[in-house]
Amino acid sequence: MTAETVTSQTATGGPTDSPTVPPAAAQVTASLSPSRAADFKTCPLLYRFRSIDRLPERPSLEQARGTLVHAVLERLFDLPAEQRTPAAAGDLVAPQWDRLVTEQAELAEIFTTGDLAGPAEFLASARELLDGYFTVEDPRRLEPAERESLVSTVVDEQLLIRGYIDRLDVSPDGALRVVDYKTGGAPREAFEARALFQLKFYALVLWRTRGVVPRVLRLLYLKDAEVCDYTPDAEELVRFERTLLALWRAIEQATLARDFRPKPSRLCDWCNHQAHCPTFGGTPPPFPEPTAPVDPAAPIPPPSRPGARSAPAPAPAPGSVAGAPAVPSQSTVTGREGEAGREGEAASGLGVGSAQEEPGSS
Ligand code: SF4
Repeated sequence: MTAETVTSQTATGGPTDSPTVPPAAAQVTASLSPSRAADFKTCPLLYRFRSIDRLPERPSLEQARGTLVHAVLERLFDLPAEQRTPAAAGDLVAPQWDRLVTEQAELAEIFTTGDLAGPAEFLASARELLDGYFTVEDPRRLEPAERESLVSTVVDEQLLIRGYIDRLDVSPDGALRVVDYKTGGAPREAFEARALFQLKFYALVLWRTRGVVPRVLRLLYLKDAEVCDYTPDAEELVRFERTLLALWRAIEQATLARDFRPKPSRLCDWCNHQAHCPTFGGTPPPFPEPTAPVDPAAPIPPPSRPGARSAPAPAPAPGSVAGAPAVPSQSTVTGREGEAGREGEAASGLGVGSAQEEPGSS
């Protein structure tokens, strides 16, 4: 692909579309990240396990590698443009892994599963993914406007939607390009719809907050060294917003009824919770009881982003699902999918996102 030169600047373009002006934050009663929304679409029971039961998930090898690669790519752009070479990226791998393990000790557990010979092989596999990145893009010709950026807006006057964007490029004419790194090795077709859902989520937030419909939504598949571009339009984003609100209402209803059903698919192969899933002979844990009401004026914490440099969001109390009338607490559905903790992807798709919202995902 031919790398484009983009510059860092503020998007001020005045589109012909008329995005909704977000209402006052005091009206917000719930929040939703693309990862958790995609969870419910993928499997309502998976959503429950992650967002309500908050069952622990051990990071997979792909999630951990995705988190690492995202961290390296973020730091790569700290370097002067001419120094953003494959060798420089490779030199960042070990230090970034050390930092991540220090901040998230559970990442080191991947070496006890028998999947890998050890850290050396793991780090080498991360460098291979970075080689894939340099095949599809020349970072010396890019100057991202934002990296690992938390974006948010309010829809329907009460639902806060937000998530982390891997990278946002802004061209001299104010055009936005949302870039998402995909590092998972899972079958593409199993996760592409989820990835596109995630990007449309970001596009909607950017349109509502900046008045610009992103010109390009870009997926960079590092393992396959492929680029997938998608061009959204305002009408599509309006429909997507309606879909998102319908999804949220379905989540509220499921919470009220305490009815989250399994939805088996090939993604079950990457699910951490088969032992609790009736589809695999398991039994879900007792549904968490509602907690005491919280101060409605209290700020909703940002979604956690494993691998990111920002502090993780505090875990909400059991049963505190956004907006659910049956659960009086303020709800916050957080979490980044993708590699280990991002709202992202993959084998990770189902795992808690990596440095982004999906393990290996992003
Ligand atoms: S194993 Fe499959 S059906 Fe069961 S919770 Fe996980 S994704 Fe859903």
